[in-house]
Amino acid sequence: MGENVKVIVRCRPMNLKEIGSKCNSIVEIGDYVVSVLNPSARSAPRKSFTFDSVYDGHSKTETIYNDMCYSLVESTLEGYNGTIFAYGQTGCGKTHTMQGDGYSGAVENNGIIQRCFDHIFETISMATSVRYLALVSYLEIYNESIRDLLSANNPTSIKNHPLKDVPGLGVMVPTLTTQAVMSATDCYNWLNIGNKNRVTAATLMNDKSSRSHTIFTISLEQIQETCSPGTNPIIGGIRRGKLNLVDLAGSERQCKTGAFGERLKEATKINLSLSALGNVISALVDGKSKHIPYRDSKLTRLLQDSLGGNTKTLMVSCVSPADNSYDETLSTLRYACRAKSI
Ligand code: ADP
Ligand code: MG
Repeated sequence: MGENVKVIVRCRPMNLKEIGSKCNSIVEIGDYVVSVLNPSARSAPRKSFTFDSVYDGHSKTETIYNDMCYSLVESTLEGYNGTIFAYGQTGCGKTHTMQGDGYSGAVENNGIIQRCFDHIFETISMATSVRYLALVSYLEIYNESIRDLLSANNPTSIKNHPLKDVPGLGVMVPTLTTQAVMSATDCYNWLNIGNKNRVTAATLMNDKSSRSHTIFTISLEQIQETCSPGTNPIIGGIRRGKLNLVDLAGSERQCKTGAFGERLKEATKINLSLSALGNVISALVDGKSKHIPYRDSKLTRLLQDSLGGNTKTLMVSCVSPADNSYDETLSTLRYACRAKSI
């Protein structure tokens, strides 16, 4: 199981606000190791954490894709399920990593999600004895309720789509919109439509910070064709693989973002899903637990068939290098460490 779960850390560059406040960088990126200096105890030894790979502020999403995502996506093309998560404090680069920056059209700005689209359709277009059917869906978990981001009717209404446990098929959202896609461009279009429907609310830390988890799913069904000369193609078995691309809500604690009332209620639910996810992954990695607590949150129930077993999981943990994020950085690294096999 252990080698099917990979955990990496990406430390973004210092941003203008941090430079303006004369922040010091306290995060050091080595070979597989992230070490953090406690800014209020500078003589104390650095805390070090080891991961499957670590990336500094100069690293490119392209490199992360080639190192860590490529083989995961290949296995979904072969019929396995896979999940890529971005985890971390708001403003540390989750969306940058998953979706890139804006839609400038420049390929180097593409995030992991767009790279998955290109990779998948490049493979599909070259396939000779396999026919693929590709479907996408895009949902958001907001306050433990599921919103369909691709729904054409009344996209702004918060609609709680029920989860159903269908024997033999697993957990699904029967009312969720799924769209057939024929090209990477189709996927880009659905991603853009879904993004317009996202719930975002201002926090003190980042105006556009999202308080919801989003899951963009690409399902791939493949049919083997065996063709002997002069006969019709024989349709072989169907294989199904699914790729979940997850941009998690910010992992920060509420005290720092000034949440109260409704916001605090939201935050409690965000933390519930994140801790449920941490518990599931660490139970899977540990390998000794008989009970995997999937049922504890919508997020883990939805991803149940894509975490554990034959599936592949990548967790990208995003951190800031700045000293004023010390507590959050440490908590992100600890969370990431729990998800990692030793
Ligand atoms: P999050 O989704 O975790 O809240 P974002 O991805 O929106 O954070 O990142 C916040 C800001 O920092 C964005 O303007 C983004 O472009 C920038 N940023 C994040 N990571 C990087 C990076 N590795 N390199 C350059 N800019 C980054
Ligand atoms: Mg974001």
